[in-house]
Amino acid sequence: MRTLPFLYLAFVASLAACSVAPPAPQNDDERFRAHTSRLLDEMWGEFPDFAVRMGNYKYAARLEVPNQGRRDAKVALYRRELTALGRFDPAGLNATNRIDYAIIKNRMERGIWENETFRAWQWDPSTYNVANSLDLVLTTQYAPLETRLRNVAGRLESIPAYYAAAKANISGPTLEHTQLAILQNRGALGILGPDLAKQAQASNLGAAEKAEFQRKLAAARAAVEDFLAYLNGLESKLGNGNARSFRIGKALYEQKFHYEIQSGFTAEQLYRLALAEKAAKHDAMEKIARELWPKYLGNVQMPSDRLLMIRLVIREMSKYHVAPHDFVQAVRRQIGGLQDFVRAKDLVDQDPSRPLVVRETPVYMRGIAGASISAPGPLNPTANTYYNVTPLDESKVAANESFLREYNDWTLQILNIHEAVPGHYTQLVHANKSPSLIPAVFANGSMIEGWAVFGEKVMLDAGYGNNAPEMWLMWMKWNLRSVMNTILDYEIQTMGLQREAAMRYMTVEAFQEETEAVEKWRRASLTQVQLTSYFNGYAEITALRDEMRAKQASAFTVKGFNNKFLSYGNAPIRSIREVMLSAQ
Ligand code: ZN
Ligand code: ZN
Repeated sequence: MRTLPFLYLAFVASLAACSVAPPAPQNDDERFRAHTSRLLDEMWGEFPDFAVRMGNYKYAARLEVPNQGRRDAKVALYRRELTALGRFDPAGLNATNRIDYAIIKNRMERGIWENETFRAWQWDPSTYNVANSLDLVLTTQYAPLETRLRNVAGRLESIPAYYAAAKANISGPTLEHTQLAILQNRGALGILGPDLAKQAQASNLGAAEKAEFQRKLAAARAAVEDFLAYLNGLESKLGNGNARSFRIGKALYEQKFHYEIQSGFTAEQLYRLALAEKAAKHDAMEKIARELWPKYLGNVQMPSDRLLMIRLVIREMSKYHVAPHDFVQAVRRQIGGLQDFVRAKDLVDQDPSRPLVVRETPVYMRGIAGASISAPGPLNPTANTYYNVTPLDESKVAANESFLREYNDWTLQILNIHEAVPGHYTQLVHANKSPSLIPAVFANGSMIEGWAVFGEKVMLDAGYGNNAPEMWLMWMKWNLRSVMNTILDYEIQTMGLQREAAMRYMTVEAFQEETEAVEKWRRASLTQVQLTSYFNGYAEITALRDEMRAKQASAFTVKGFNNKFLSYGNAPIRSIREVMLSAQ
């Protein structure tokens, strides 16, 4: 299949030599597009879990068993694809294809690196969990229940082999990822529990099929229980201080940053930028907090420690928030105002034909309080986009108070800007119109998060919130979180930053609550690099905006830049930068 373009070219060339009119030749761009669609088809089959997450259920009955044979087959696919890419010259392709070329090449190189160098499949037991995709295959409404149950049955059948492979793979794990695997696989047992058994029994499957289903379900449960027993044994051995460190070190960190963030910066450059940004934010916040002190603290003596002074002003301001029962309504009320502001200030295109549906978070999705965007998968771009807002449980008085102080009158607006307009929802509407599926399928998280953060600044720069100093101070506190995430992630993973020092960074230097800081420490010890995606994206988009402004001079408009930037979909910012700066 991959040699076809060569054969085809040879065929055309020989026809031309005989001076016979060739059939309409494909140009390089057409050849490349045909190639990418074949690649996607191949990937759906090779990576059924990935396909399910993207909304393709053709191979939903397959569970990948993570054994050496699978890893060899994957690496072979990545190498074949890199060879195939070598037959195209990206410089000769149009902008969309040039970006796709860079995305695919990175994804293949990353796959090889993950398998051969990073090897989380050995030291991170939490990579093994069958629950998430099984749940998607069962609960997403892509087919009648019986079809979905048959797909689930197909997966159940491979679960014993799956966990046998997992046990064979694990070698030198970290204690933290072992404990995470225990927690998450206990959750998997819940999904493989009596509810699923009852659902199959009550369905229209035949009697023999039902019996088979129950047998496979019991075997799958036994396999998860066996894996949990294995992990518990591992945990007690690792507890004696002989576990691998969860810190991946500088070399692996730079590589992971390179493949996952796909930044124009190195990790170390971004870390230095974050340190400078933190210092600049402290200066700016001090200035505003001094100005606000009399309004919120009256005659109270101002402390000489400026970080404490800022903290006290923020604490007073946080008392202003909506009532617990009004939280969902308050979010709903604000969306229209954000849309009006974006329109009045001409900041970015909006599409009224793709409205945002604000809803109470469905019960099965509720875990933590808050708000999130449920985006349709890239293969289903016209489905509704939901803004899930979890109503506060009015019996939990203290927890609500702490939550609402965090999402006070100013921060709640910033949250809505970030999640909805012109943040994630607006970006998604634009991305769904991009001509290629590649940036949607291999989405760059730093572009997505970076845009949402950048969008907050776009709004404030345009005067949102009447330029109130309160709005700016709360935004700076919010923004400082992403700056601090970058510093923490880098120092924890590459410089051995200890828990106590990390907690001080968050609570004293970034004005965070203790509970948030505790949760962040946990996340920073279980993940690497992802925490930098917010600040990296923000820094890269801001730099590109400034470059374009300098280049286009009087022709530059905020809306022109934003529309153009978003038109490339969820592509790495450095790739978007290349095509935007090279266009005249
Ligand atoms: Zn209160
Ligand atoms: Zn976000």
